[in-house]
Amino acid sequence: MDSQELYEQLEVVEKSSALIGVTIQNMKDTIHKLIDENSSLKIENAHLREKLDALELVDKELDTKHAQKYGLSNLEHLYDSGVHICHNFYGIQRDEVCLLCESLLSQGED
Ligand SMILES: [Zn+2]
Repeated sequence: MDSQELYEQLEVVEKSSALIGVTIQNMKDTIHKLIDENSSLKIENAHLREKLDALELVDKELDTKHAQKYGLSNLEHLYDSGVHICHNFYGIQRDEVCLLCESLLSQGED
């Protein structure tokens, strides 16, 4: 190998090294972008999870209220049909107004 060949090979190695350097820098930039994006997504995910938890809590409360209203409505029908709904006389026919029954019904109205 003469000095001209050696010089040309060195130039090829130099260009390859420069290309490798650019590729490494591009990969570093991509990794930085992915790390930033990952951090943003983690924060967004945490916020969304908090909102979801809050919505699920509201949903549960609504279900409970609905169930209570439905139960109260059934008791009202039963009482209106002339049957006691109070603990003392539950299920027994009534001839007149029962303050215990009415107390139960009024407790559910809020
Ligand atoms: Zn009663």
